[in-house]
Parts: sequence; C-alpha cells; structure tokens
Amino acid sequence: MLLSEFAGNDEVKTELSEAMKNNTLPHALIIDGAKGTGKKTLARIIAQYSVCSSEENRPCGVCPHCLKAEKNIHPDIMTSDGNNSGGLNVEAIRNIRSSAYIKPNEARAKVYMLFNCEKMLAAAQNAFLKILEEPPENVMFIMTAISAASLLQTVRSRSRTLSLYPVDVLEAQETVRKLVPDKSDEEIISSVRACGGNIGAALEMLESGGEEAMLLAQEIFRAIPLSTEYKLLTLTNRAVQNRASAIQVLDRMSELSAECVKASVGAENVSEAAVELAKKMSRRRIMKIQETVSHARSVLDVNVNLNFYGTWLCSVLRNY
Ligand SMILES: [Zn+2]
Repeated sequence: MLLSEFAGNDEVKTELSEAMKNNTLPHALIIDGAKGTGKKTLARIIAQYSVCSSEENRPCGVCPHCLKAEKNIHPDIMTSDGNNSGGLNVEAIRNIRSSAYIKPNEARAKVYMLFNCEKMLAAAQNAFLKILEEPPENVMFIMTAISAASLLQTVRSRSRTLSLYPVDVLEAQETVRKLVPDKSDEEIISSVRACGGNIGAALEMLESGGEEAMLLAQEIFRAIPLSTEYKLLTLTNRAVQNRASAIQVLDRMSELSAECVKASVGAENVSEAAVELAKKMSRRRIMKIQETVSHARSVLDVNVNLNFYGTWLCSVLRNY
C-alpha cells in the first residue's frame, strides 16, 4: 500500500510525506492509536520506504525491495511482537541491540518493527533506551502501541509519536470495499457504521462473518421463555460488551425473529434453528419479540449507555 492510499489521518500523512521527501524521517517512531486504526499498515509503509531502492517517490512499490517488503520477506525488515511470548522482553531487545549494529543485508537501511509495545515491560524499555540514545546509522525503529503513554517518558522523548484515529465513515467504507470486494454494500456500510470508522474493527466484524453473533442471538432466543431471568441477563450483557457487538447481535436477532415468524406459519426455506425456536413460543409472542428487537436496534442508533442496555434489553424481551 502507498502512503496516499492509507485512509484518513491527513495530518500524519502530510508530516510523513514531507519527511520522506526531505529524507528527514526520525530514526525512531511510535505509532499509537486504538486497535484497528492501521498502526501496523502504516509501519509497513514506512518500512517499505526505508528499504526501497528507487531514487525518487519512495516507496515505489515495484522495485525488488518493495516487493519483498510487501510480502513480508525482506531480510532487512525485522518484526518483534509484544503479543508473542517473550516477543519484546529484555532478551529480545538485547538481540535487537546486537544485530542493529550489523550492516543491512541488501537494502540501504534496516528496519525494526516493534508491535504492541504496550506489552513491553520497563526493564525491556530501559534496555531499548540504550540503542535509542546512540542509534546505529541507517537503522529505523518503528514501535506501535495502543497509547504512547504506556511507554517510558525517556523512550517517548527520543522518538517521534504519530497518532492514528478512526476515519470518516464514507472514506472507511471505500477502503473496506477495496479490501473485501466480495462483501455486499449493505454489510460494509453497517459494519463501518457500527465500528465508527475504525477500519480494522469493521474488517474483523466482516471477516468473523457474524457467526458468533448468530450463535449468541440463538442462545438469547432460547433463553427468553425460560422461567428464570438469570440466563437471559447473562447473555444480553455478553452481547452488549461493546457497540459493534451489540449491533451485530441485534441484527442477527432481527433476522432470526423474522425467520421464526415465517416458521410459525409453516413456511419452507427457514433455518433449523428458527423452526426449533418457533415451536417453543406462540406466534403472537414471536411477533412481539420481533417488534421489541426492532425497537432495541433503533435505540442503538443513538448513543446509548451500554452499562444499562443489557439489563434493559433483558427486561423488555421477557415482557411478553
Ligand atoms: Zn521501491
């Protein structure tokens, strides 16, 4: 991906493209932002820039270095991930320190990408500090973290922080459409909106295929006619852990209730789950649930306090 193709975040892109043009990119960068805002994608673009052999307009995207970088097989781009066990512990940092002074294998520079640095303990950060203070030539460090504040002040002061944010919903839709062209417009729009322009979160929602949400929706339906409220309350609270999940589960419940209504009048081509559920409740009750679900879904379109929403949803579903 080229820097110009990276969605939103115009300030960061302007700053980076200026630095790239003038060859003034700092030797250490911290990219911070919520999960899904594109930290790793941006890190890879910068890494590609650093190894690209083109004389102008780096990264060119076509030279052998760019191609290897894109396939994540460039020998001068190293990745360490704080989410892997020992990925960014003191020993891993010491290994980086000793290898950083060795010349690049084939490119003009060597890049170390350090992902999920919020997992890096203080001892490892202190070990890392030594190399940030006296950086070897032609070496670039790109750290990513949910929040740069999770890193020691001493590390931050020797790096440049770039903060990423979710992007404009329309721009996010366009980007998602390019990345998953097989998904329908409807699916893309609803996932991007549910995730508030967070492209990574929307992609995850689309990729998971809503399967988990579907299973949860079925469990909720099964729990509605039970004599005790506890099971249903546990499930509705699980469904509303975050807005995106709440929307997904409510959408699945809406589809499922529509199917149950069909099943209750003996229609064919309905899912087994719907047939089974329709046997346990009267048609009148199923239609009331359908109404309730549609109302509950519309409530989610305005900003609602999710702490109470799960409890409220449970009580309105049991109302009939
Ligand atoms: Zn190139």
